[in-house]
Amino acid sequence: MAAASNEKWLRENPGLKRITGMGVWEAPRRLAVRRRCNVLVCGAGPAGLGAALAAADEGAEVVLVERWAMPGGMWTAGLVNPFFEARNRGYIVRELIDRLEAADAWKLWCNDYCFDPEVMKLTIEDMLRQRKVHVLYYSQAVDAIVENGRVRGAVVESKAGREAILADVVIDATGDGDVAARAGCEFAFGSPVDGFVQPMTLMFEIRDIHGFRQRDSRGLYDRLAAALAERGNPFELPFPRYNAAPYVITLPCDTAGAVQATHVYQVNPLDPAELTAATMTTREQAHQLMSLLKTLPEFADSRITNTAASIGLRESRRVTGIYRVGAEDLAEGRRFDDAVCSVRFGVDIHHGPGQTKSGHGAKMQPYEIPYRSLVPRDVRGLLLAGRCISGDHYAHASYRVTGSMMATGQAAGLAAARCAAQNLDPAELDGNQLHAELVRRNCLFLSR
Ligand SMILES: Cc1cc2nc3c(=O)[nH]c(=O)nc-3n(C[C@H](O)[C@H](O)[C@H](O)COP(=O)(O)OP(=O)(O)OC[C@H]3O[C@@H](n4cnc5c(N)ncnc54)[C@H](O)[C@@H]3O)c2cc1C
Repeated sequence: MAAASNEKWLRENPGLKRITGMGVWEAPRRLAVRRRCNVLVCGAGPAGLGAALAAADEGAEVVLVERWAMPGGMWTAGLVNPFFEARNRGYIVRELIDRLEAADAWKLWCNDYCFDPEVMKLTIEDMLRQRKVHVLYYSQAVDAIVENGRVRGAVVESKAGREAILADVVIDATGDGDVAARAGCEFAFGSPVDGFVQPMTLMFEIRDIHGFRQRDSRGLYDRLAAALAERGNPFELPFPRYNAAPYVITLPCDTAGAVQATHVYQVNPLDPAELTAATMTTREQAHQLMSLLKTLPEFADSRITNTAASIGLRESRRVTGIYRVGAEDLAEGRRFDDAVCSVRFGVDIHHGPGQTKSGHGAKMQPYEIPYRSLVPRDVRGLLLAGRCISGDHYAHASYRVTGSMMATGQAAGLAAARCAAQNLDPAELDGNQLHAELVRRNCLFLSR
């Protein structure tokens, strides 16, 4: 069918579909507006939560949309532990830690801190309720509403159908930069060496651990490899012998642990078929690993109680911002006048079969992330928080841990609320003033 007559048909039949050799055409249709607000946050992981809570603190009306039925992102649905980069963080991060501690759900684990993921869910929901954040679970942001180069809201799909949420400022905290990508922002993807993003891991939880509390991944690797050899090597360990896996991270109760051991390589996080295959493969790996763990005395009584609701994505889109944090910033330990987050975590790149060894343990000094890395270069009305902020593959491998990600979120939330109140675009907001406010709230820990 000629393009012109196809378009005419689509215009005349709102809401209908037409199948052609080129694909399925969807006619334009009116979307109901579910809600208007000051700040719309997409994604309720550590970054989105920091953003929603901080914006609400400033008096903004906040809507938080999340595709899963819980807050916390990788902390909860991903079963990720420990909480890296928790020390010396102020404001929302500090409040969350204080609440977890008060609930007996926070404990030192090998120089870092572990938490109870169930108490994490409840604690966060209490914080959201207290600040009157309007939370919508079971809702996925599937498109951006862009008018004259400015993001005005997002299209959200749920069992209620396809609806619009309009906002003065939108924050993309989806981890994958879904809203920014739909709005037409440029993004970077993968390693400059081989083009692949970091490998994925399905975390799993085990119970009835006796007397294991250590971080020696190479030691555990050797014990698992010996147990595997004893059985005639019926399968391969899904990672090389290096210091990023395997870990059994014991939880505050000590007899339960989150296991970071499964790995799949060269998987595209934006393709559901690849994600499905990766999830099935890693679930099989989890049960194979459990059978090996059971041969060690500390895990003889253990069993898997839960594989994570989602496979864990270490890396996905990195949206291009006004400033891109790069390996050179880490090497020089750079500070910025508009800094919103301090980072001291090293470059943690998991290499493995088919993925080039690159950057793990690269030289770095504690550095800062500037506000400009949260402001996308290509559109107005949008801020970035969490994994999808503007940075290169190496810097991302350092700032991606949860303490830093929540810190970028609280900065984005504060900025968005101020933009909404003062009718400013995020690019117009004075980053130096934002920095000063965050310093006042003890959010930055590097001296200058
Ligand atoms: C296997 C693994 C182990 C890790 N280990 C550690 C560790 O030990 N300690 C540590 O501190 N960090 C660890 N990390 C890193 C850390 O978990 C993540 O980098 C961090 O959670 C990123 O925070 P975020 O809020 O940007 O994204 P996420 O935690 O990924 O949260 C994103 C949220 O957005 C939601 N979402 C996504 N798309 C949409 C959409 N379109 N619409 C609505 N909602 C959407 C998701 O459901 C999710 O809730 C690990 C990561 C992985 C994958």
